[in-house]
Amino acid sequence: MTRVALENNAEYIFYCQIESWTALKENLKHGRCVRLYGIPRGQYEDLETLELISVTTIEIDYWSFYKACNDPETASIILSKANDSNSQSFNPKEFWFQVILKENKKGLTCAYDTFFSEDYKRYDVSEFDRLNEINKQPTISTISELVPFPSFRDKTMHQENLTFSAFHVGQGNCSIAYGGKTGIMIDAGAGAPIRKREYKHNNIRNELSLIVDKLDRIIVILSHKDSDHWRLLSWDSALFNKVDAIYIPCGINCLAFKDTRIRSKLLPTQSVEFDSSNMRIFAHRSVPIKLNDNSECLVSVIENKNRKVLVPGDYMYSEIMTDRNVRISSLHSDRFHAVIVPHHGCEESASNIVQPNNPARAFFSAGTHAGYNHPRKNSLTEHSKIGYTNISKRTEENIIEVKLLE
Ligand SMILES: [Zn+2]
Repeated sequence: MTRVALENNAEYIFYCQIESWTALKENLKHGRCVRLYGIPRGQYEDLETLELISVTTIEIDYWSFYKACNDPETASIILSKANDSNSQSFNPKEFWFQVILKENKKGLTCAYDTFFSEDYKRYDVSEFDRLNEINKQPTISTISELVPFPSFRDKTMHQENLTFSAFHVGQGNCSIAYGGKTGIMIDAGAGAPIRKREYKHNNIRNELSLIVDKLDRIIVILSHKDSDHWRLLSWDSALFNKVDAIYIPCGINCLAFKDTRIRSKLLPTQSVEFDSSNMRIFAHRSVPIKLNDNSECLVSVIENKNRKVLVPGDYMYSEIMTDRNVRISSLHSDRFHAVIVPHHGCEESASNIVQPNNPARAFFSAGTHAGYNHPRKNSLTEHSKIGYTNISKRTEENIIEVKLLE
C-alpha cells in the first residue's frame, strides 16, 4: 500500500520538484502529464535528517494542471510544451512547488510510490503553487550531500568473458555487459511503447530479464538523472535487488534519489572503470560548456582490443567534442565499432557524428513518444551517410537484445 493511501484526510499536501512536463502517464492510459517528485509537506523541513524518506511520483494531466497552476511563468513554459527550458530564462525545474491533491476515484491525476508501487491512487489537483520563499536553487539539497566516490577501478571481473548488448526499450536507454556472475549495466530505462503494467505483468517478451535472471550482482552506471534512463530500477524489484551500486555523475541533484530505497546504492563519481578478460568498460564525468539535465553526465565506452562502443546517454556528439574533460573530448577523434546514438536520435545528434570503424552500427534507442518524434530522419540519414548501419525499431513493444560487442 502506498503512503499516500495510508493517510486519512482526503486532502494531501506535497512539496514537489518537476521531473518532466512532456511526460506520458505511467499508470493511467494515454495522455501527457507533468511529472513531479514529491514529499509530504511535513517532511520538508527535516529532509536533511530524516532516516526514512519515501518519494511519491505525481502525474498531473495537462488540463488539470492548467486549471490549478497559480504561477503564470511556470504555466506558460509548461503549456508551451517545449521539451526543455534551455532556451528559456526561467527553468521550472529549479523550484519547489506546493501541490494539493484531493482524492477522486475518477480524477485524471495519479500518485504512487516512486519505487516498486503495485498500486496508484487517483486525484484532482486543487492547487499548484510555486514556493516563492525558497530562492532560485532549492535550498535543500536533493542528493548532492553525498560524498563523491573516488575514481575507481574494479578488476574483480578479470576472468569473465563479456558480451555487450543494447536493448530496444522504447523511449529510453538500457544496455548491459554480461557473461559471468556480474553484469555492468549502463542505464536501465524504458518508455513508450513499453508500459509499466505490461512490463510488471510479464505480458511482453523481455530478453533483458532472461540475462538478469542468471546474474548474482549488477553494477549500474547511470548516464544522467532523467527517468527514461533508470525507470526499470523503479519498476522491477527483482532487478533492483541485484544492484550493488549505482554510479551517478557527481554533483547532480534529483529528489527521487533521496528515496531511502535507492540512496544507499548511489555512488557519485568522476570516473569508474571495470576490466574483464576481453573488455574494458569505463565512464567519465562530463565538464560541459552548457549545463542542463542531459549534460551533467557520465559518458561510457566499452572497449575490446581496438573495437570501441560509445554510450553517451543524452550527451550530444558536439558536446563531447567541446567537453572540458580531455578524457571525454579526446573520444571524439576515435573511431567506433558501434554507437548508441545520443539523446535517442534527436535532431542535434545528426551533427558532428563520431567516425565509424567499419563495419559499424548505430543503435537508435527511441520509442513512440509523439512529442519527441525520435529518432529524427536527419540523424538516421547522416549516420548512414558516413558508413554506419542503422538499427532502429521505435514501435517494438518487446524488450529485445541487440549484441553490439563480443
Ligand atoms: Zn533520455
